[in-house]
Amino acid sequence: SEQNFDVVIIGSGGAGFSAAITAKNAGASVVIIEKMPTVGGNSLITGGQMNVPGNWIQKKMGIEDSIDLFVKDTLKGGDYLGDPEMVQILAEQALPAAEWLRDYIKVDFYKDQLFQFGGHSVKRALIPRNHTGAEWISKFMAKTDELQIPIHTRTTATALIKDQNGRVIGVEAEKNGQQLTYYAKRGVIMATGGFGANVAMRTKYVPELDSRYGTTNARGIMGDGIVMAEKLNAQTHNMKSIQTYPICHIDSGVISLIADSRFFGALLVNKEGHRFVEELERRDVISRAILAQTDQQTYVLWGSEIEDIAGVVGVHKDEFAELNRKGMMFKADSIEELAQKFGVDEKALMAQVGRVNQFAKAGDDKEFHHRGGLKTIMKPPFYMLVAKPSVHHTMGGLMTDTHTRVLDTQGKVIAGLFAAGEVTGMTHGSNRLGGNAITDITVFGRIAGKEAAAQ
Ligand code: ADP
Repeated sequence: SEQNFDVVIIGSGGAGFSAAITAKNAGASVVIIEKMPTVGGNSLITGGQMNVPGNWIQKKMGIEDSIDLFVKDTLKGGDYLGDPEMVQILAEQALPAAEWLRDYIKVDFYKDQLFQFGGHSVKRALIPRNHTGAEWISKFMAKTDELQIPIHTRTTATALIKDQNGRVIGVEAEKNGQQLTYYAKRGVIMATGGFGANVAMRTKYVPELDSRYGTTNARGIMGDGIVMAEKLNAQTHNMKSIQTYPICHIDSGVISLIADSRFFGALLVNKEGHRFVEELERRDVISRAILAQTDQQTYVLWGSEIEDIAGVVGVHKDEFAELNRKGMMFKADSIEELAQKFGVDEKALMAQVGRVNQFAKAGDDKEFHHRGGLKTIMKPPFYMLVAKPSVHHTMGGLMTDTHTRVLDTQGKVIAGLFAAGEVTGMTHGSNRLGGNAITDITVFGRIAGKEAAAQ
């Protein structure tokens, strides 16, 4: 069957919703197609923090920030592989995008708190209610309802359709084995996310990132948009830049939030009871170090000195209950008991903790020079969980210009095709800084919606 719209958006993450709502408000008829039964993609499962230089909360808190400083931090954080022109737009459009989310989409941001991720010079990340992307995806849903934007779920885009001049005029899709055709009078917007869940595609670019790694990604994040566009000769950029997250659940690959105790001094040890890496090293360094250990796993250990400050077990009660039920995390009054539960060398671990306690008291980590300073692990109860690394974010993707138009291998615009969000590869360089994905998705999603509607 055939359907006609002005703009067809593939993917219902933050980029797809931002594009769809903007295009509709610019007078276009739009549809969102989504392959999964539910909307949201990775955008739903993120913490949802959004970096915005010069935001209203910084003003209230007296924090000095600027567009230039954000540009500098972002370029430096990506080893200067991000595109400076695109990063400039990201920085300039962050505040209007955030005000749109706050005032028009009605995203509820905390009013007197900001988050500062690694690589950022100042606190600049807005925090959505409950620290989750569910806040903005649910508000996006409410807005698309209000605007009567259809969302076709369980509908997988399989190919782009072009006319004899090479202009993209629609999308072939499949729903329950049935072939569907969506014609797009003004444009198609690719918002399919990255390829973190696609092991074959990952290893094509970085052989090391094989199935030993889990993934923090939603199931649908398979790089479909990149493959579909490449069939039309689209140019990709920066594909080898793939970010891992070191401490994830060994079964599901999901990021362990309870293990954020690491930022407060929790240790990483191996099966032999030894530390093997500085606990606050870069994500990629820790991930590699873990995979070099027995069973390619690490054990995260902390006691009440750390829990009293970090409060992670209290905050993440559900995670504790789930891990405990699965035998992946325990709480005990002695470290020996924890070692026994996981089959970690008990004697060696006790000796290791003894050394850590000395280093903590002396304020000098003679083994790994812990940059945050070690804490003692003497006061019960003690906590231990098992973890391994996952693939988290793919920085590379389609090459786009400042109007979000997809470029081909000759650097020419592919007429009728736009892209925004993790499917693109322009802003993050070698390494995406925490809180920059949400800014990227919203800013460029809005531009894509406006540009496609204006065709
Ligand atoms: P972004 O953060 O860039 O918005 P997300 O990961 O949040 O990306 O969302 C991408 C969405 O696109 C996911 O919901 C995913 O299921 C969907 N998607 C991926 N490939 C296809 C496809 N071939 N057809 C339809 N939807 C797709």
